[in-house]
Amino acid sequence: PRLANQIAAGEVVERPASVVKELIENAIDAGSTRIEVDIESGGARLIRIRDDGSGIGEEDLPLALSRHATSKILSLEELEGVASLGFRGEALASISSVSRLELTSNVEQDPQGGWRVVAEGRRMEPRVTPAPHPRGTSVAVRDLFFNTPARRKFLRTEKTEFNHVEEAFRRQALSRFDIGWTLRHNQKTIHQLPVARDDHAVERRLASLLGKNFLDNALTLDIATGSLRLWGWVGLPTHSRAQADQQYFFVNGRVVRDRLVAHAIRQAYRDVLFNGRHPVFVLYLDVDPTVVDVNVHPTKHEVRFRDGRMVHDFLFSSLHRALGEARA
Ligand code: ADP
Ligand code: MG
Repeated sequence: PRLANQIAAGEVVERPASVVKELIENAIDAGSTRIEVDIESGGARLIRIRDDGSGIGEEDLPLALSRHATSKILSLEELEGVASLGFRGEALASISSVSRLELTSNVEQDPQGGWRVVAEGRRMEPRVTPAPHPRGTSVAVRDLFFNTPARRKFLRTEKTEFNHVEEAFRRQALSRFDIGWTLRHNQKTIHQLPVARDDHAVERRLASLLGKNFLDNALTLDIATGSLRLWGWVGLPTHSRAQADQQYFFVNGRVVRDRLVAHAIRQAYRDVLFNGRHPVFVLYLDVDPTVVDVNVHPTKHEVRFRDGRMVHDFLFSSLHRALGEARA
């Protein structure tokens, strides 16, 4: 079964940032209010995520690492099938098959409670040992790809890998203002983001994640029609140092890359603000969950709207109006 995991992981655990994304998603799923991310050497040496969520019980710890493992592989077709399953219920198993992983957790309030299970590549230590931990979970992933040298060779410089990690972190921190976040690299604090309970705190978070320049040149908007609401920030053309990558769009709190959305924004931007300007934005579209299917693909951030035309028109006209007013 670990062989299957390793093959799947080879396809899906691309780099430290993909590990960070999966582990943060697990922490969010566990209902955490605080998530801390520690990175060493761009993530190649260490990725550690600590949360204060529901925790994993003693009996469930080994299961969390081995669940959904495929027991047999018969053909190449099946191999490809495993790979394409991606992270559907096997993120931890996949990650542990290509790293030295330590999973420590506690479901009780008692800080002396807590248990740990460790895995090293394909070998999982069968014992669960006592390990004091506050309520919640810590996952430490060391020496990513230590047993798959071909993969390890594809890792870029420490700085590049960390930039990808930070980007994964940024997206998640922008998606949940009700969670407090910390990101450290080589023991240096990069982002310290307390739970943002008011506008002030929200703006501080934005400034930390995107730079003060973004906020100083952005327009705030909040427009609702029927079951659709669009809110967030759009960069104005005065924002001359606009970075091409500052484009964040969330649908019901999930980061999404979508052609229809990108098109609507680009159109509105171009219509009002001259050609050649690169739109920068952090936008949240809240829709009735029944009109959208966010889980088209578990890792690709795709989305399918039941009525794409209506969403497109709403986005276009909302942005057109807001940008037009700002320009007047
Ligand atoms: P999936 O998230 O798709 O279920 P994973 O391999 O990511 O698969 O995680 C396996 C299981 O381990 C989860 O379903 C969950 O029960 C448990 N788990 C993982 N991380 C955490 C966490 N941070 N807090 C609580 N439970 C967790
Ligand atoms: Mg998961």
